[in-house]
Amino acid sequence: MQDKAKKLMHISTYGCQMNEHDSEIMRALLEESGYQWTDNIHEADLVVINTCSVREHAEKRVLGLLGNLKHQKEKKPGLIIALGGCMAQNPEIQEFIRKKAPYVDVVFGTRNYHKLPALIKEAEETMSNVFEPTCEDEEIPGILPVHYASRVKAYVTIIYGCNNFCTYCIVPYTRGREKSRPPKEIYEEVVRLADQGFLEVMLLGQNVNSYGKDLEEDINFAKLLKMLDRIPGLARIRYTTSHPRDFTDELIDTIADSEKVCEHFHLPLQAGSNNILKKMNRGYTREDYFKLTEKIRQRVPGASITTDIIVGFPGETDEDFLETLDLVRRVRFDAAYTFIYSPRYGTPAAKMKDDISQEAKKERLKELNQVQNQITLEINQAYEGKTFEILVEGRSKTNSDRWSGRTRTNKIVVFDGEEDLEGKLVDVEIECARTWTLFGFLKNEQKKRNL
Ligand code: SF4
Repeated sequence: MQDKAKKLMHISTYGCQMNEHDSEIMRALLEESGYQWTDNIHEADLVVINTCSVREHAEKRVLGLLGNLKHQKEKKPGLIIALGGCMAQNPEIQEFIRKKAPYVDVVFGTRNYHKLPALIKEAEETMSNVFEPTCEDEEIPGILPVHYASRVKAYVTIIYGCNNFCTYCIVPYTRGREKSRPPKEIYEEVVRLADQGFLEVMLLGQNVNSYGKDLEEDINFAKLLKMLDRIPGLARIRYTTSHPRDFTDELIDTIADSEKVCEHFHLPLQAGSNNILKKMNRGYTREDYFKLTEKIRQRVPGASITTDIIVGFPGETDEDFLETLDLVRRVRFDAAYTFIYSPRYGTPAAKMKDDISQEAKKERLKELNQVQNQITLEINQAYEGKTFEILVEGRSKTNSDRWSGRTRTNKIVVFDGEEDLEGKLVDVEIECARTWTLFGFLKNEQKKRNL
């Protein structure tokens, strides 16, 4: 119910899970400072846009939204507009806001979103624009309040920034160098989440495998997972994203021996040709990548492996693309998130000649998706007739009479069930597998208890 005395806020979030989690924190901070949430952007007194620069498409959508908000502000002059996230770190965008979109009141950086209530207050009091992008030496925020979007699984950031400088990627420039959170702080946060009844945590970072490299204590990602694996009450631990180059044997062994770390490996391949991998500065070869996936399959039988692939990177020949297809067929990914390359301003790849026509890029994407979708379907069909533990996340988005949850291998499973199963671990037998979803039924109507 709305409290009429309170101002309304809305946050539009683009991009990755890091952004989703930052928005959960911003929402909690704004609630603490007296705002109330509304789903309806048109009735908001404050609109925060948490942006993403990783793909051109997301940037275009943000610019479109800004255009709409300009009209909204003409009708409602008291509307406050705040722009944060990766786009806000881009000097070109800052220049654009100053010259062409002065109706944006606050521009804030990727690591100072915790200052948002103060920045909004400053903009209101001074009636002028406030620019506060993140500086390189900005301290990482400690424990902050969070408005969790789910009551089943919670995001926990473990490391900020990235040191890898893949040539196509804007993230190291917008989110800065790697900074790990202290392990004690992470541990305490996860204990608190388990006590609150969350059964799953998703550990977040641009490259979680780098965790701890910048800390003085004797800690790395494998050791952190071992610590968290012992927390009572928690059922599942996931993480994203992990760089294939930094996926050590110690880490594979830790996951294989753990109870709670899920058997799902998301390893962005990006390209299957050594020529392109080198141009991307990925730090591994196709042979290294294949060997890694083989090792994972030996140590963690039944694990799922998913990936990200870019097609049409500058200089990608037909032969390079065929090598990507070949590796996709050999590894047999459970799923792949596939993208057409688009240059990102300020990255080394943006200076390379973007010499692949849009038609060729689209053609390659189509072919890649056809190959991958067939593999995904075949792998999913092998689930038919078998029973899996499902963590129920809520009602199915496509059929609200049914429940939806995930296997430990991160497959979405939809099934029938009468009672409130959200947040429960249940056994479901898979009856029918499709490319994106598995359909099943509750086994013996037997529900497991909340841990
Ligand atoms: S690892 Fe590469 S792709 Fe991932 S965030 Fe860092 S620079 Fe970007």
